[in-house]
Amino acid sequence: MDIGQLKGVGDKTKALLNKLDIYTVNDLISYYPRSYDRFLVPVSIKDAIIKKGVVAIEGIVIKNPEIVNLRSMSMISLFIKDEFDDTIKLVWYRAPYIKNLFRKGDRYVFRGVINCVRNQYILEHPTHFTKEEYISKTDNLWPIYSLTKGVTNNLISKLVKQAFSCALIEDKLDENIINEYELMPLKDAMYYMHFPQNTNEFLHARKRIVFDEFYNYLYKIRSVKKKKLRHKNQYLIGMNPECERFIEKLPYKLTDDQLKVIEEMNRDMSGATVMNRLIQGDVGSGKTIVALIAMLNTYFSGYQSAIMAPTEVLAKQHYETFCQLLKEYDCRILLLTGSMTAKEKRLAYEKIANNEADIIIGTHAIFQDKVEYANLALVITDEQHRFGVRQRDALADKGYDVHVIVMSATPIPRTLAQILYCDLDISVIGTVPKNRLPIKNCVVDTSYRAKAYRFINDEIKKGRQAYIICPLATSSENYEGENVVDYSQNIRDEFPTDVVIEYLHGKMKADEKNAIMERFADGKIDILVSTTVIEVGVNVPNSTVMMVENAQRFGLAALHQLRGRVGRGSEQSYCIFVSSDDKPHTKERLEILNKSNDGFYIANKDMEIRGPGDIFGIRQSGEIMFKIADIYNDAAILKMANEAVDRMENI
Ligand code: ADP
Ligand code: MG
Repeated sequence: MDIGQLKGVGDKTKALLNKLDIYTVNDLISYYPRSYDRFLVPVSIKDAIIKKGVVAIEGIVIKNPEIVNLRSMSMISLFIKDEFDDTIKLVWYRAPYIKNLFRKGDRYVFRGVINCVRNQYILEHPTHFTKEEYISKTDNLWPIYSLTKGVTNNLISKLVKQAFSCALIEDKLDENIINEYELMPLKDAMYYMHFPQNTNEFLHARKRIVFDEFYNYLYKIRSVKKKKLRHKNQYLIGMNPECERFIEKLPYKLTDDQLKVIEEMNRDMSGATVMNRLIQGDVGSGKTIVALIAMLNTYFSGYQSAIMAPTEVLAKQHYETFCQLLKEYDCRILLLTGSMTAKEKRLAYEKIANNEADIIIGTHAIFQDKVEYANLALVITDEQHRFGVRQRDALADKGYDVHVIVMSATPIPRTLAQILYCDLDISVIGTVPKNRLPIKNCVVDTSYRAKAYRFINDEIKKGRQAYIICPLATSSENYEGENVVDYSQNIRDEFPTDVVIEYLHGKMKADEKNAIMERFADGKIDILVSTTVIEVGVNVPNSTVMMVENAQRFGLAALHQLRGRVGRGSEQSYCIFVSSDDKPHTKERLEILNKSNDGFYIANKDMEIRGPGDIFGIRQSGEIMFKIADIYNDAAILKMANEAVDRMENI
């Protein structure tokens, strides 16, 4: 049923919902909140400042609102006082309409985020309620949806309710399994994901949704495994002596782990059956060179190979690395990405089809329908966790029973990896090259910001670059945390005018993003304020500082991945985790990053500490294969689903 059939969804709203990938009523129903809000009892201004984060304050407006024009944006400020006569400034950016909402003497509950700007505490972007309105909202969990301009949280809630009254939801899961694992019926679970009365109900609903996600994934992947099982190897590729010489001439010595993986690959590729291997290695462990060696051997055996990266920037980087390292061989390296012109693409297709390209590097453009390979024998997917199983297969299907390597930096404990990637053999690169200086880390609170900016400025003076990571792209009414657009504005005054500050987030157009990343890689940007989009394998060895705002909101594994963007060159690198909440639990969790630079250890510890209870954190940004499930937090459910699939297969 098309989303346009719901009451109140005209063409305009329909187009907006489409932007959120909501096309059908069922899409809407599975458009789960990205978080939940709770309205806590209002506090005094003093307590609000101690508490930090999102707070509600009841107060009286003591002056009519004022509008101030700052550089490129307007700001409204308003002063209120509470019953103890303490006052605080309320601030809205880019929202001139606010000016007409308040008059001196008005009394409201204001709910917003406490922030400290130049030693003054302010309440940012508060929403306001009458006291009765506010009290009626306490005690419940309120869904918070990802929105786009023109779509409000309220609109989505209302439409979801309507959708449930007309959608057909079929529960296909075996009844014995539902009973055995104490799962909620599917329709109920889907409903309570949106509107839980309390945390318990939410957890129960979520368990069912997560179970299904794992179950469906495992079911699919097992059938892939059966299909692939023991395909005969038709491309015998061994270690070529020329490739051995290549390894000796590298500017560095390969680590023992790299050598071990290369040996495992060679054994596979020269063996009786086709290779299907996952290479798992922490960020910076040197997976690219291992891929290159497999591709070089494939070339020496007279076949084509292709490697797919998740972003254009990364594909280009690989292309440059490969061209540089292989310049003395006459193997033909070709780059194919989505942003190339139609003519360039056509030329590339011709070369691939006529066997005029040996090593093909690109984004998902390399497995589009139009691309036909002359004699493909090996396909590699880099940063595999960014792709779905289907894309991985689509690339492999470009050849006939070809060798497959997938590479991932996601630090999954081995037992989980064996379940999730059961169609693959697993190789691990467990150590990073020795020449690196370990990253220096610190966990601080927001009062440390001024110092951090000075530190970053010092590094920039030495010619280095910095990343500042914020959890949000743009300002959001109902979501707490820094956003890159406002943040990059707000820090402008903290740095000399010649320091170039730019921002980057996932909602920007692909070519805008590429342009920024390229400018950063070329050293033309000093500070890049970004969301986690930069996490994907980008290599800019000149960047030595990473500062992460609202660090407590990220999973440790995600933070560790982020941190991998620095410490890639020979200079000392630094990571500053700014926590905006001072619960002891938060500190303890972030301290793990402080103590260790080992991704596997961190992932395990995170799982231990967060336990299954911490469900309100940001989802692991590295795992897009599941919408709701989190392989670390939900490891127990993953094991259940695995068991269930086993049982269904044996019936
Ligand atoms: P990742 O595993 O995250 O993809 P890369 O392959 O990008 O890591 O490698 C990171 C950096 O380490 C690259 O600049 C690469 O040249 C370098 N490198 C790879 N292997 C070694 C090694 N054995 N010794 C020293 N440096 C290495
Ligand atoms: Mg990589």
